[in-house]
Amino acid sequence: MQKKISGFLREIEKRNSHEPEFMQAVKEVAEDLIPYIIKQDIYHGKNILMRMCEPERVLMFRVNWVDDKGEIRVNRGYRIEMNSAIGPYKGGLRFHPSVNLSILKFLAFEQVFKNSLTTLPMGGGKGGSDFDPKNKSDSEVMRFCQSFMTELFRHIGPNTDIPAGDIGVGGREIGYMFGQYKRLKNEFTGVLTGKGVSWGGSLIRPEATGYGTVYFAEDMLNYEGNSLKGKTVTISGSGNVAQYAAEKCLHLGAKVLTMSDSNGFIFDKDGINEDKLKHIMFLKNVKRSRISEYLKKYPNASYMRDKKPWGIKCDVALPCATQNELDHIDAKNLIANGCYCVAEGANMPCTIKAISEFKLNKIFYAPGKASNAGGVAVSGLEMAQNSLRYSWSREEVDEKLKQIMINIHRSCLEYGKEKDYINYGKGANISSFIKVADAMLAQGVV
Ligand code: NDP
Repeated sequence: MQKKISGFLREIEKRNSHEPEFMQAVKEVAEDLIPYIIKQDIYHGKNILMRMCEPERVLMFRVNWVDDKGEIRVNRGYRIEMNSAIGPYKGGLRFHPSVNLSILKFLAFEQVFKNSLTTLPMGGGKGGSDFDPKNKSDSEVMRFCQSFMTELFRHIGPNTDIPAGDIGVGGREIGYMFGQYKRLKNEFTGVLTGKGVSWGGSLIRPEATGYGTVYFAEDMLNYEGNSLKGKTVTISGSGNVAQYAAEKCLHLGAKVLTMSDSNGFIFDKDGINEDKLKHIMFLKNVKRSRISEYLKKYPNASYMRDKKPWGIKCDVALPCATQNELDHIDAKNLIANGCYCVAEGANMPCTIKAISEFKLNKIFYAPGKASNAGGVAVSGLEMAQNSLRYSWSREEVDEKLKQIMINIHRSCLEYGKEKDYINYGKGANISSFIKVADAMLAQGVV
């Protein structure tokens, strides 16, 4: 079996040799799927997994814009349209200097499986730019977003490809891009999700990824008769996902000890309560400043520059910042300190070796494609509301989100139960694969 997996990965590597993040995502999936596919006659001779590893379309384009000093800047824009077997391409846009083809292809690949898990009819895609919104004025961000959309608009549409936010793309950026799309197409349509509530957005969309991650962690703990109540939680990141993961932890009675950004983390041993979290939201969303400023208001907390929060003792860890932010040393530290549940709010935050440590030590581990699927699920609900020209209440959307997370948990159990361990990664990979693969089989070689 290992020979078959290595042979498959060698083939993929030939075409994608300079794309380590993409190869990492494929490897993680192939190790679960190849042993499964081999046992299923219907997939024989169809080369389904190889087809799923090749994007249906990759768009790459120049984005010129003028900064506040009147200088012309050049960035690169991308959209990866990965797989449309079960619905139009759907997935976020990331604006961050690290953005490149490898990162976007890994994200688009993961998105295909994640979207399938939600049970909603959405294919997978991802896009973005190496533009850095940090330290840019609002006008600069607006001009960049308008220029980006001036190319992207011809490739997307409410029945073709529906982008959303991701790192560096929040409500402000979605607003500027939506405005430009509307101007170019002369059409008010649900082409982006994460819109403001008064212009086609869904209630609970900003909260959905963080809330969903915590609902999933709670589902895992509930499964063995436990819950988040009274538990200590370490969180990385202080952006959209981290903020609402922290909020839901507080709703469920857990104590949040840490949050971070790319410069370091804060540790508040008394717990980050609702007031303190509000202050973090103000620092990050309004002031657009650094997490270290937390100490000015709460000097009892500590700040560790250039460090990650995984050395802090906790019951539950929620990595909610970025890919590969938790390695095997971090995993060992977490386990040694008694952590028994890790749910990924970010995409692929744990390295393959870190995941092996979790499995070896049989602690709960939820891969992002399952635990952070709440964001895209509510994006799917936003699309449904746009089509209906109707809005559901906060309670209705939250209830649907909870139910979707329960269903994803159930799908993981169906295919992930092992003798004395629930392999959530394997469960998520197999159950999401079946839906996409069967649709691809039905639609022929296209
Ligand atoms: P935001 O831009 O709102 O926040 C990102 C956070 O992560 C910030 O605190 C940022 O710090 C930190 N961060 C970014 N890069 C690094 C790095 N290299 N090292 C350490 N910290 C870093 O993004 P989101 O919260 O939306 O996204 C976070 C993760 O969740 C990403 O992996 C994204 O793909 C995933 N995700 C997001 C969804 C959504 O709905 N938004 C849906 C599903 C997954 P700083 O301010 O210093 O940059």
